[in-house]
Amino acid sequence: MKNTVSHWIGGKPATPGAKAQDIFNPATGEVSRQVALGGSAEVAQAVKSAAAAFPAWADTPPIRRARVLNRFLDLLNQNRDELAATITNEHGKVLSDAQGEVMRGIDVVEFACGIPELLKTDFTDQVSTGIDNWTLRQPLGVVAGITPFNFPCMVPCWMFPVALAAGNTFILKPSERDPSASIFMANLLKQAGLPDGVFNVVQGGKDAVDALLEHPDVQAVSFVGSTPIARYIYQRGAELGKRTQALGGAKNHLVVMPDADLEQAVDGLIGAAYGSAGERCMAISVAVLVGDAADKVVPMLRKRAAELRIGDGTTAGVEMGPVVTRQALERIEGYIDVGVKEGAKLLLDGRGYQVSGREKGFFTGATLFDHVRPEMRIYKEEIFGPVLCCVRVKDFAEAVKLINAHEFGNGVSCYTRDGHIAREFGRRIQVGMVGINVPIPVPMAWHGFGGWKSSLFGDVHAYGTEGVRFYTRQKSIMQRWPESTPKGAEFAMPTAK
Ligand code: NAD
Repeated sequence: MKNTVSHWIGGKPATPGAKAQDIFNPATGEVSRQVALGGSAEVAQAVKSAAAAFPAWADTPPIRRARVLNRFLDLLNQNRDELAATITNEHGKVLSDAQGEVMRGIDVVEFACGIPELLKTDFTDQVSTGIDNWTLRQPLGVVAGITPFNFPCMVPCWMFPVALAAGNTFILKPSERDPSASIFMANLLKQAGLPDGVFNVVQGGKDAVDALLEHPDVQAVSFVGSTPIARYIYQRGAELGKRTQALGGAKNHLVVMPDADLEQAVDGLIGAAYGSAGERCMAISVAVLVGDAADKVVPMLRKRAAELRIGDGTTAGVEMGPVVTRQALERIEGYIDVGVKEGAKLLLDGRGYQVSGREKGFFTGATLFDHVRPEMRIYKEEIFGPVLCCVRVKDFAEAVKLINAHEFGNGVSCYTRDGHIAREFGRRIQVGMVGINVPIPVPMAWHGFGGWKSSLFGDVHAYGTEGVRFYTRQKSIMQRWPESTPKGAEFAMPTAK
């Protein structure tokens, strides 16, 4: 098939090899393009190119690296809608949501533009007579990022802007389900003046990932995806001596206290459970309804979920698009079967949902379960679709205990009007990202993103100053200058050279 999304190596598209796989438009169910499936040969080529580009890029003054990123930022802003449309075509999320995703990626690029300040380190004058001591943070070399399908622009942007700003060269291995955004951004980086080889893309699946892990010249690996693969990447990366961070799956709870503004809580739940068809790692998949909040909230949720406008993400006014693939659809609907068998009360059944004119699209409707119990699979496992499970608990303490016992700890939220409850919740909950009356508390670019427990393997979070730490290593320098040699006067304003 013509129109294959290929690799990007050394500042240009690389010829795809023989292996390729279909990319679908989830709204129509039709094949739109193909993606090349790279392996060790393509990875070797990309690493060679990135390794060759590294010394000059690492030596480029941070302010000049920031200027390239500033131009990239400008281009991203100019091309935001086109990039968002590309995402909707391959991922299925509604266009406004795709625009929001691009914007959250742009936030990180803006953050990375501040790299001269971010790389500033400490200095101690006179640690001993005539001796000063300071630290440097230096880039690692060739680093790799492996990203999931659900944010084909934003999640790569959690990684490469900070990595590049810090002076590394980068190889992105995007999801094979929606790879076009990666090449779109590679083109913009080139237009922004990024030297060839500094940013590369290898398309593919497990073969490409394993080749990146195994390659001795790849110094660090950032991964975002499901927990089984995150665990594997972290273990294998550590075994091979690489700096590794691996962000995994999630099961995010939203607690509704009886004193909460229930309209606001229901708004929060509906958007966070069904937005992007539940395919967000910060989606809310469990509503924890405390005391008499349950009997009030459940009918409101049912009514609102039944009214959701579901359709092709390119159609104005649509609130929820299809899920990414037929396999994802089958997995999600399989979980609904499991929930029914386990005895949860199915209040709204999304199985078999049809969108007129889009009969082959990968659509499932909004699903709502009540009386879900902690021992059920639909509670314990990540469904990653538009399925909201309501769990009823008697009080705040039971809500906290329930959430803290869960395997995952990515995001969580609590709706309340009680400042003491809010404060206790923030302090006692065993979850990495907490919202108080905020349903999806994705931290802003300068705060860093990361969950706890099986939602993140590694020590540092993504982006923010955590990202700068991940993509640099510390060096301590202790120096003595017995004398200095005069160089003569200079009359021009000194500039970075
Ligand atoms: P996935 O784990 O299937 O794939 C992620 C990446 O790993 C892709 O690039 C894929 O090609 C690669 N991969 C897949 N199978 C592999 C294997 N066997 N060996 C090596 N590499 C492999 O995840 P996905 O379905 O693309 O994304 C959804 C998942 O990502 C969900 O679990 C979601 O919670 C998670 N996610 C987490 C975060 C976070 O920040 N914690 C953010 C976004 C998504």
